[in-house]
Amino acid sequence: MNAIIFGAPGAGKGTYSTRMQNQLGVEVIAMGDIFRESVKQNTELGKKVKSYVERGALVPDDVVVEVLKDKLAKIPQGKGFLLDGFPRTISQANTLEKIAKIDVILQLDVSDQIIIERLTSRRICKNCGTVYNVRFLKPKADGICDKCGGQLYQRADDNEEVIKNRLQVYKTQTEPLIEYYHKRGVPFIVNVTKSIDQPPEPMVDYMMAELKKLGLA
Ligand code: ADP
Ligand code: ZN
Repeated sequence: MNAIIFGAPGAGKGTYSTRMQNQLGVEVIAMGDIFRESVKQNTELGKKVKSYVERGALVPDDVVVEVLKDKLAKIPQGKGFLLDGFPRTISQANTLEKIAKIDVILQLDVSDQIIIERLTSRRICKNCGTVYNVRFLKPKADGICDKCGGQLYQRADDNEEVIKNRLQVYKTQTEPLIEYYHKRGVPFIVNVTKSIDQPPEPMVDYMMAELKKLGLA
């Protein structure tokens, strides 16, 4: 199965994809994670993308596409993938269309208000990337990952000013992809988050059940 997990920044793409990864037996490709890691390691890619990621602007398509192709090439034969953070523009989607068939879109629908509240209180494990929230999805011990004991940190782009920019970019450049994939007849599984304290597990169960109905899980 090849899928895209789609939604605004803070909609929960990373949270759900890490939780579904094992159940689905797919490879998750999370563009933002790849970029943040390369910035941290100060690699050639990191140097290219740093200023964009810090501002919440889109990394140029040619750079993103090269990373995607490289990651896809490493997936073992017969294993599917779940894309988190790609495509983010129509041009990226056009490129993807030439490389792979997409079976389903997992769409996360979350209001701006919830997004801003969530992102400003989000924390991430330095070691394993698990996402927490100091208000709504707390770790058992303050500042420490439940899963691996790693330290939790706040992403540099999770501040109000950059969040506003990321939302603006999402609305103008990325949201049009919903219509793009509807037009192509790709099935959607839509998940609406109605309240800020909604736990992820029931949503994961719902998406898994819908994937089974489609014969994809
Ligand atoms: P978000 O929480 O905003 O969805 P991500 O972790 O997916 O964040 O992405 C972080 C940043 O990485 C983006 O703001 C952007 O600068 C860059 N980025 C990630 N994916 C893409 C992409 N497909 N195209 C261009 N830039 C990207
Ligand atoms: Zn961890």
